[in-house]
Amino acid sequence: MIVGAGSAGCVLAERLSRHEKRSVLVLEQGPSEWPDASVLDLRRLPISDGERYVTQHRESSGLPVVRGRGLGGSSAVNGAYFMRFHRDDFDAWQGPWTPDVIDKAYAEVDEKMGVHPFPDADLAPTALAFEKYWGETYSTRQLDDPWPLVGVNRVRSNSVVGIRRTAADAYLRPHLNRPNLRVRTGVKVERVLLADAKAVGVVCDGRDIRAREVILCAGTLGSAAVLLRSGVAGEHMRVHEHREVLVGYRLREQPEPGPLLPTVVHTGDGLEIRCYRDDFARYVGGLTLSGPAVGVAAMAPGAPGEVYLDGVDAGVRLDRPEDRVLRDMARTAHEVVEMLRSSEFGGLVVADSIGIDPVLRTSQHAWGSMPMGERTDWLGAVRGVGHLRVVDGSILPAAGRSGPHATTMMVAAVIGDVVAAD
Ligand SMILES: Cc1cc2nc3c(=O)[nH]c(=O)nc-3n(C[C@H](O)[C@H](O)[C@H](O)COP(=O)(O)OP(=O)(O)OC[C@H]3O[C@@H](n4cnc5c(N)ncnc54)[C@H](O)[C@@H]3O)c2cc1C
Repeated sequence: MIVGAGSAGCVLAERLSRHEKRSVLVLEQGPSEWPDASVLDLRRLPISDGERYVTQHRESSGLPVVRGRGLGGSSAVNGAYFMRFHRDDFDAWQGPWTPDVIDKAYAEVDEKMGVHPFPDADLAPTALAFEKYWGETYSTRQLDDPWPLVGVNRVRSNSVVGIRRTAADAYLRPHLNRPNLRVRTGVKVERVLLADAKAVGVVCDGRDIRAREVILCAGTLGSAAVLLRSGVAGEHMRVHEHREVLVGYRLREQPEPGPLLPTVVHTGDGLEIRCYRDDFARYVGGLTLSGPAVGVAAMAPGAPGEVYLDGVDAGVRLDRPEDRVLRDMARTAHEVVEMLRSSEFGGLVVADSIGIDPVLRTSQHAWGSMPMGERTDWLGAVRGVGHLRVVDGSILPAAGRSGPHATTMMVAAVIGDVVAAD
C-alpha cells in the first residue's frame, strides 16, 4: 500500500506494479480530477488560499507553507525546476547509492518527465543579463550537461511547451490499466495500523485498510503527520528548509509572461542565486504587486526546523540558518545589489528601486524528517517498525545544492527497483 500519489508515490506505484505478483493500492487524499492546463501552465503557481490542488500548513512565524495534493502531489503545482543534486552531494550516501545507479535513475526520470534546459527564448532580458554578468566570474554549464556545477546553470525543467509534466502524468496515468494497480482518491490516511511493532495497514475515516507493507509517500510534512499521529515519531520531528532572502527591484519594461525561474548561479559556498522572471504576484493569486526579485537561498547547509501536530495536521516551525550561512547570504545579497546596478542591467532596472527585503523566506522544499541511514535504513525502511517504509522527501539524508524534486523522484525509482526485486 502506498500513501500519497505525489512525486515519489507515482514513481513507486509504477515500479512495484510492474510485477504481476504484487498488488498495489495507492491512497491519495486529494481530488480524483487530473489537474488541467490552467493548473499546469508554467506562467502560474496555483498555490494561493483556496486553490483546489494544495494543502496549506501553519508556520509559526506566519510564512505561507503549502504542499500539492491530488494526482501528482506537489509536482502539479511547483516551479518545474528539475535540477539534479551535484555529483559530490552523494559522497556520504551508502547502500545502493553508487554513482552509476544514481546516474541511470536520474536519466530515466529526466526522460519520462520531459526534462530539458529552458531555451534562450524563455529567458527575459534580465535573465540574459544575469547569465552574462555571472559568466564573467564563474563557469557556465553546457546546456546538454544534466549535472549542475558551481557556476551559471540554465534551469532544467519538467515541462512540455509551457505546461508542467507531473509525476502522475509520467508514471501513473499510462499504467492505470494494470489489473494489479488501484488508485483511490479522496482518502486521507489518519495513521498507520500497528500490531507487534509491525505495520499491518492504515486507518482512514475510522476504518482499517489492511496491507502487507505500508509505504508512506505523503511528502515530508504529510508523512511526518501520519507518523506523529501513529505515535511512532515522538512529539515533533526535525526538518530542513532552503531559506531565502530576496533582493527586490522594479523593471523599466514589463516582460512577457513566462517560466518563473529559468536560470540560477550555484556559488562555492552552497548558495543558489535565483533570477526570478517577474513579481511573484503575477504567478500567485492574492499577492500584492511589489516588483520582481533575485533570490539568495541557502541550499547546503539548509536551515533547521520542526514539524509537529497542530491539531491533527502538520504545523511547521522554520529556524534561521546558522550565523556563518546568514553572513554568506547577506554578502551575496549585496553582490546582487551591485549586479542590479551594473551596466548589464542599466537599461532594464529602475535605478533607485533596488533593496534587500529583511524577511527570511522559504523555498517550500522541506525535507529530511526521516533521513536514510538514521531513522530509516538506506532504502527507507523505518527503524524499529516492521513492514513500514517512507519514500519521499522525508528520507533525503542531507542537503543537496539544488532543489529536491528531481532527487526525490530519482530516490523513489531506485528504491522501487530494489524493493520490487525482493
Ligand atoms: C509551491 C512549491 C514549489 C516548489 N518548487 C520546486 C521546484 O521548482 N523545484 C524543486 O526541486 N522543488 C520544488 N518544490 C518541492 C518539490 O515539489 C517537492 O520536494 C516534491 O514534489 C516532494 O515530493 P514528495 O513525493 O515528497 O511529496 P508530494 O509530491 O508533496 O506528494 C505527497 C502526496 O501525498 C498526499 N498526502 C499527504 N498526506 C496524506 C494522507 N494523510 N493521506 C493520503 N494522502 C496524503 C498529498 O496530497 C500529496 O499528493 C516545490 C514545492 C512547492 C509546494
